[in-house]
Amino acid sequence: MKSGMIAAEVIHQALSAGKQPEEGTLDQAVRNSWIDQELKVVRNIRPGFRWGLIPGLLNAALETYVFRGKAPWTLSHHEDHKTLKLAKESRKINYPKPDGILSFDLMSSVFLSNTNHEENQPCHLTLKDSSIPVTYNLELYDTPEHRYCPAGVYEIVTSEGKPKLQINAQNCIHCKTCDIKDPSQNIVWTPPEGGGGPNYPNM
Ligand code: SF4
Repeated sequence: MKSGMIAAEVIHQALSAGKQPEEGTLDQAVRNSWIDQELKVVRNIRPGFRWGLIPGLLNAALETYVFRGKAPWTLSHHEDHKTLKLAKESRKINYPKPDGILSFDLMSSVFLSNTNHEENQPCHLTLKDSSIPVTYNLELYDTPEHRYCPAGVYEIVTSEGKPKLQINAQNCIHCKTCDIKDPSQNIVWTPPEGGGGPNYPNM
């Protein structure tokens, strides 16, 4: 939320001066805010789990209680989309059916998010190359879009006897996982028209 507020301030300042925001201005503004300090303190915690659970927990305790973000090193991070395993190297998980008490089906949960987008707005989820979901993602990863998207936006359908990725953008709850996790970085998430998206009235 804070980074969104900073983005709005940067854009407002530039437009008020009759200019477009300059490249790097937003990045610098975020670095000058308390977001930077908060993230700097915890920067080494997640990468520490590359060594396993126990060493990761020990590293997290060291960072939290001893160094408090002042360790003279920064552990490297990796890009999430590079970590996907090939389908042939992975075990297929058969999830139990939702019981309607503790677990619920996907569409019931999407319904609770009150997600809505104007029907006639441009699709806010686009593909750089429309063939990749089938020739690459389906072939190698068994359509990971099915698994990481929490709203069932992506579906493989058959059109004229061939598989094709269908994007049900209306259901998108704006988590942006697809933009980050797609193994070929082929999905582009753009902000939809104003007001569209999930709406949690009780939050
Ligand atoms: S942003 Fe989230 S909910 Fe929307 S399509 Fe991507 S993964 Fe699905």
